Amino acid sequence: MSPSPIDIAPAALLAGPGFIACALCGRPAARQWQRRLTDAELADHQAIEQGQRDEHLLLADAQQPPPAFPPLPAADDCLRPVHACAEHTIDESVAAQVHQASCSAPPACDCTPEPLPAPELIEMPAGWAATGGGG
Ligand SMILES: [Zn+2]
Ligand SMILES: [Zn+2]
Repeated sequence: MSPSPIDIAPAALLAGPGFIACALCGRPAARQWQRRLTDAELADHQAIEQGQRDEHLLLADAQQPPPAFPPLPAADDCLRPVHACAEHTIDESVAAQVHQASCSAPPACDCTPEPLPAPELIEMPAGWAATGGGG
């Protein structure tokens, strides 16, 4: 009898389309957070975006006005997801914040995450009114 393939398969072989691995060890991720892009990552990101725009321009109808594009994404516009397994994860409250590009997590966050944005005000429907207060 040979051992079952499942018993000997490394984690990578189990990876399916929906599989998200810890950035450090490759085990299934237990938590995700966001961090800023490094300069090199941002340059790559902009190059890809620019390439897509160039291609779009090439395919555009010459009889039409050229398509207008918004400015290329800047550092403030870009976040990169970070995934970590249960062993290499960071604190839940810290994971809710946006981390610096230099963040070394996983396994340990040594950066100063950005403060959480203020919660958006929710406008109540026109007919809604608080009860009480007399009248
Ligand atoms: Zn891990
Ligand atoms: Zn961090």
